[in-house]
Parts: sequence; structure tokens; C-alpha cells
Amino acid sequence: MSHFSIQCRNCNKILENAYCAFCEHCKDALLVTQYHDTRFSESAASGVWRFNWLPVHEPSISQPGPVVYRSQGLANELGLTNLFIAFNGYWPEKGALLETCTFKEFEAAIVLQNARENNIEGLIVASAGNTARAFAHLSATTGFPAVIVVPRMCLGEMWYLESSSVVPTLAINDGDYSDAIDVAKRIAIATGFPFEGGVKNIAKRDGLGIVMLEAMSKIGKLPDHYVQAVGSGTGAVGAWEMAERFVKDGRFGSRLPKLHLGQNLPFAPMLHAWEKNSRTLFPRDLDPALISQITTRVLSTRYPAYSVTGGVYDALTATGGRMYGVENDAVYAGMEAFLQAEGIDIVPASGVAVAVLKDAVRSGGIRKNETVLLNITGGGEKRLRKDKKTHTVIPKFVSKAIPDKELEELLCPILKKTC
Ligand SMILES: [Zn+2]
Repeated sequence: MSHFSIQCRNCNKILENAYCAFCEHCKDALLVTQYHDTRFSESAASGVWRFNWLPVHEPSISQPGPVVYRSQGLANELGLTNLFIAFNGYWPEKGALLETCTFKEFEAAIVLQNARENNIEGLIVASAGNTARAFAHLSATTGFPAVIVVPRMCLGEMWYLESSSVVPTLAINDGDYSDAIDVAKRIAIATGFPFEGGVKNIAKRDGLGIVMLEAMSKIGKLPDHYVQAVGSGTGAVGAWEMAERFVKDGRFGSRLPKLHLGQNLPFAPMLHAWEKNSRTLFPRDLDPALISQITTRVLSTRYPAYSVTGGVYDALTATGGRMYGVENDAVYAGMEAFLQAEGIDIVPASGVAVAVLKDAVRSGGIRKNETVLLNITGGGEKRLRKDKKTHTVIPKFVSKAIPDKELEELLCPILKKTC
């Protein structure tokens, strides 16, 4: 007997055997995990497996969680009295032990375990960088096959904990993250391994929601505000869904945290749509030329989970949230401010989040004594390199126009699979 069911966000239908699916009646609505136990609880298990609200039954590997702590440095600088930081990365002095230095490690751990329990034999993953590293690492440590597809333009910032020979990785020569998603979907059809599903995958959203689980375990009540940088928005949706579960539980407060979400200008399709109160993204904001101008390539998807029922638009609406645009200069300033105030390096996407927090405080969107959860989605890469060797990603380069037949010939032998 499973401890959860999967339910359509729109028509509330309960679906059986719904792996990475949409409701048959509501193609544009996300499915959401309904945990039968509506009270949050923690077992004696270690790391993230102690939480009762995860869609897995028998986890086989150990998986550390984020570190949530009350800020002194940044809080003083901004005049905040209740700023909590969820640090996702490597900072052993603080107890943070994610060697992939990203919260995508939770996504990968939960997705792979959930896939295994759904009798899936392998997964095709598209990524603009940190998701690739997380899946490559979990694939290597658990022996679960994965093929990773990334855009060539992101390779400069990419690294793996393991050598790329362990995890087959394709780089798209002539395209961006969205083209990588397209090729990944074609590989899925050619090899019979499913595409990891993006925002449709409940395990992905619940995995990213671990940040909220850890925060509630530590803080004991829902924050007034939640701050994060967004690319696809999947992490923010995961945080909102977890917050809804805590509201339903009743012991953690009755108000959803307001989402304060940031994109890196000039590529900010969700910001521009939200400012116009539009559920639909504007095509002019999805111009690939804009992507080449941003610092944070990991935030560069042209297919964000914005319009879908249960996506970012609904999350912002439900929480009274706001979108922010952050210039490159402010991204670097945010990274530097965090390093000086908290004492650890963070990745550019987290620099976006710090800039959003500053902006929200300055503009009065966040008041001094309110409780704030700042999600530092990645950090400690420089710290990690003092302790560990990391690897350059050496992919096979392909064109986005590669015929299906060639994909099959290229990948099926590596996957030891008859396609
Ligand atoms: Zn439905």
C-alpha cells in the first residue's frame, strides 16, 4: 500500500500508474502528489529520507539534505531579524555536504528512486548544467542508467564529480537548453527510456520541495516570504506545493509564503508576462539571442512551467507573489555580498536570489521583522575544489538535426539496449 496517490490539479481525479503524465482530461494541468498522512513527520532515518512527504518507498542510497540556518551577516546588512538561509551545496564547516553543490541533487535522488520503483530502466535527462551534474552523479553512484543532453553553450560552466565516460553525455552544437529538451525527447522515443518529464514529474517537484521540508523541520513555522531564482520554475512550484501541505497540516501557520522569484535580465519571459498579468508568455521574450546575454545559463529555458495549471503563474497568484528582473552586475554583486556576509561562495543563480532579496527589502515588499527563507540553490563550488577533484565534461557533440536513426545507433550500444 503506497503512502501517496497522484491527483490532477484541475479536476481532482486520482490517477493510478501515472508516471510523468498529465491527466487524460486536463492536458494542461499538473498532477500533484497527495500524501495520505496530512501531518508532517520525521522518522529516525538519516538525511532526506526521514521526511514522510516524499514519493519513494525504499530508498537505497544515503542522501544528505540542505542546511537551513538563521543568518547573521546578510541579515544584519539588510536589517532583517528573521532571515533563514537554505544552503544547498558544499560547506562541510556548516554541515552542508552536497558534493554536486546544487539542490538539483534532491531532484535527481528522488526522481531516480521513484523511477526505479515504477520499474523504469533508465532515464533521458535534458539540462542546462547543474541538473546534468546531479543526475550524472546519482546515476553513477546508484548504477541507474541515464543519458544526459546539454547545450554546447553551457559546457563552459559545467563540471562533473565523475568522469563523463561513466555517464553518456551529448552536447547540442547548434542549440540552447530548449533544443536539448527536444533532442532528449527524441532519444527517449528511440531508446525506449523515458524522458525525465520536466515539471510533469511529481518526483522532481517533491524532491526540490525538500528545501521547504528541511526549513519547516528547522524553523517550525511557515516563513512569510520565500526567495529563489527561477529558470523553469520547477523548484518554486515544488516549494509552493510543500507549503500547501504544511497549511493543510495546520500546525505551521495558515498563510502560504509569498514567492519572490527572480530572473536574469535581459532573458526574463516569466517576469514580463507576470508584469502584464498574462498567463501566456510573449514570444518576443523567448528570443534565443537574449539568452547569450545572461550570466546564469542555468536559468535559460524557453519552456518554463509558467502557464500550465498548477505552474508558476498559479503559484504567484495563490501566494500573492512577485517576479523580479536582475541585471548581470547585480548578480555579481549578490554573489560577492553573500561571500562577504556569510563566508561561502555561491553560484550565479543564487546571486540572482540575493539580489531579489535586497530589492524586495528596499522596495518594502519584505518588512524587517518578517520571516524570510532565502533559497541558495547552489554554492560551495570553490570550497569543494579544495577537497575534491572535479572533472571537465567531455560530451559527444551532435547537431539538433541529428536523425533518429543515428541517435539510436549512437546510444543503444552504450546503454547495452536493443532498441
Ligand atoms: Zn484532470
